[in-house]
Amino acid sequence: MSFTKRINALQPSATMAVMEAATRLHEQGVDIISFGAGEPDFDTPDYIISGAKKALAEGHTRYTAASGTKSLKQSIVDKLKRENGLDYQTNQIVVSNGGKHSLFNIMMTLFDEGDEVIILSPYWVTYPEVVKLSGADQVYVETSEKDGFQISREQLLQKVSKKTKGIIVNTPSNPSGGVLNRESLKAIVDVATGNDLWLISDECYEALVYDGEHLSLAGFEGAYEKTVTVQTMSKVYAMTGWRIGYTASTAELASAMGKFQGQATGCPNSIAQFASEVALREDHAELSNWRTQFIERRNYMVQSLNEMPGVKCLLPEGAFYVFPKISGLFGKKVGDVEIKNDMDLTKYLLDEAHITVVPGAAFGAPEHVRLSYATSMDAIKTGLRRFADAVAKLN
Ligand code: GLU
Repeated sequence: MSFTKRINALQPSATMAVMEAATRLHEQGVDIISFGAGEPDFDTPDYIISGAKKALAEGHTRYTAASGTKSLKQSIVDKLKRENGLDYQTNQIVVSNGGKHSLFNIMMTLFDEGDEVIILSPYWVTYPEVVKLSGADQVYVETSEKDGFQISREQLLQKVSKKTKGIIVNTPSNPSGGVLNRESLKAIVDVATGNDLWLISDECYEALVYDGEHLSLAGFEGAYEKTVTVQTMSKVYAMTGWRIGYTASTAELASAMGKFQGQATGCPNSIAQFASEVALREDHAELSNWRTQFIERRNYMVQSLNEMPGVKCLLPEGAFYVFPKISGLFGKKVGDVEIKNDMDLTKYLLDEAHITVVPGAAFGAPEHVRLSYATSMDAIKTGLRRFADAVAKLN
């Protein structure tokens, strides 16, 4: 059977694959502990569930406007003002079926074949692939652990060419948990404004910053007109399965993306839109408890990982991932098994310790693996004990 060049070139999502593998093993009765899933283990708060039930009871079960209901857009506008200090109107908002869908809308609307889009590495697995689907080329700018994954003007300028059309920015970062500071964000804005580039600012972990502060790129001087802010209900409200994401941009770009979405998918799910509106309007009382738990889990994980010989882990400032450097284990062996790279370690941890992690190569950082701490403290303690035991067997 033959498929398009487009689909043949597309890489499967490593994060989704790891999550699916963990579910499959769990269904087969394997006592698996998953550090793969980038989704909160908390339940969607009751007040949001009630909002969905009310929407159903009131019959909000039909198509909505393709780019989202006016009332949800208004609650997004209010949220962006209240929490991010950004001024938007409802005609600048597009509501989509999750942040990933928002990214797809952006790439399909802004980039063409022959264009280049800069991606800061390490990067979330989906960025290169959505850029690829638009026909544009991906250009990577490496950030390094020793600089806390910050970025300078010079690093970016080395990769800007006449073909460059945009930069994808993700702070707090999936997978590193790094939070870009004011200086890095200013450098990005300077390069973008100086070269007429679009800024795609994925801020989906914005409320999960534990050290430092989250700054919205669109709030920087000169950035507003060129920035598309991407947000999701998934992480901060524990609504991964509801599939609601949104963008804030210029009205012109929002209208173009709305046109695309109107042909690609009638509209986002009506019930989930009503529930999201309730989520954004009412007090998210659970968030501070969740943050406290995430901080405890993060600290425990970083300490435990750093106690393992050959493993080094920075304290991430945000999101819910740790991204240890595991290259110190390369070359080690047990029986027939040799750990030559991140993939070997991932497989060894699955076979030997029954834990899932995501190999760093999927994020452009093959000396690392990613572990999510959006899972219970009990699971974290057991899983890391198994990780440590497996590492101790290597010589
Ligand atoms: N964003 C999460 C992750 O990186 C969920 C999976 C996905 O959408 O890639 O694990």
